Amino acid sequence: MAHVRLERIGKTFIDVKPAIEAVCDLSLWLNDGERLAIVGPSGCGKTTLLRLIAGLERLDCGSVRFEGRDLAGVPPEKRSVAMVFANDALFANRTVFDNIAYPLRLRGRRAIEQRVVSEASTVRVADLLGRYPRQLSSGQRQRVALARALATDPAVLLMDEPFSRLDAPLRVELRIECARVLAERAVTTIFVTHDQSEALALAQRVALMRDGSLEQIGTLRELYERPANEFVARFIGSPAMVIVPAQALGFPEYGSRVRIGLRSDAVRLVSDGEFCGTVRAVEDLGADGYAYVDGAFGSLTAHLRPGEDVPGIGERVTLAIDRGRTYAFAADGTNAGV
Ligand code: ADP
Ligand code: MG
Repeated sequence: MAHVRLERIGKTFIDVKPAIEAVCDLSLWLNDGERLAIVGPSGCGKTTLLRLIAGLERLDCGSVRFEGRDLAGVPPEKRSVAMVFANDALFANRTVFDNIAYPLRLRGRRAIEQRVVSEASTVRVADLLGRYPRQLSSGQRQRVALARALATDPAVLLMDEPFSRLDAPLRVELRIECARVLAERAVTTIFVTHDQSEALALAQRVALMRDGSLEQIGTLRELYERPANEFVARFIGSPAMVIVPAQALGFPEYGSRVRIGLRSDAVRLVSDGEFCGTVRAVEDLGADGYAYVDGAFGSLTAHLRPGEDVPGIGERVTLAIDRGRTYAFAADGTNAGV
């Protein structure tokens, strides 16, 4: 039985005009101990989805079940969920110890002390227990927030862009630590992120939302290699997939598959390529690089391998397309296979 099951849930905010359908007819499930990342454009309903699971918003329809138990009418504090936000939400006037101890306050003093020390060492803040939040770095504060969330042994941990306010090196460090802790403890986790590397590091599966609905759910590799439609194809992977009309490339074998999707690894700059264009922009990242090329086909993105010559902006170049690496989409935008 799935540990968490969302069955056709929906939420419309009616106190704004026009009303906003933030989550509509959404179903998904997680196994015990599984970690799922929710990704999607800003405003697509990710935070609302977490708040519905936590019981902070009321469902209009559908059900949220943990271990088969329907949580309708169960208040947030009785759901055994813990939440971690982008903003650590620590109590400013309490020490690290007291912040972590807060959800445990009904237990005995010794039990609290043991638990706080153990959680603090798990996230490596055991030497900071006497400090106040203002005396911590932003990374340390997020660690304390995670310790506080774990201290309650939640049935489900919900995280809303937990590392988005940290700078890049700290974000990477913290997501590695967090992945270790969550895997060790096998905490069932749903977390929102806009960073696909973070999703890859922390979650086994990824759910992509758009306008309140799920577009696709699966491993990041599945979404990357077999996107259900053009929206998924463009959203997953960097740089974004370019999708052009099949006619623009003049590939007759594509038949009714009307659009062709090309990731940068399918497009190469070569000296006598089939397609001519002009370099609009270049990103030279050292190990890898990309050239954005405009031509009769529209715009394509070519991958530059390490050591390859980097073209100048405005330069005329020719491109080769690796037809074995293309994607094809039908008129309605669904993946039509290659
Ligand atoms: P995300 O987290 O994916 O950026 P949200 O879940 O925060 O998206 O918001 C989804 C949609 O619902 C947005 O259009 C947002 O403006 C709207 N929304 C969120 N919360 C409320 C609210 N309390 N009242 C009215 N509209 C809301
Ligand atoms: Mg949000």
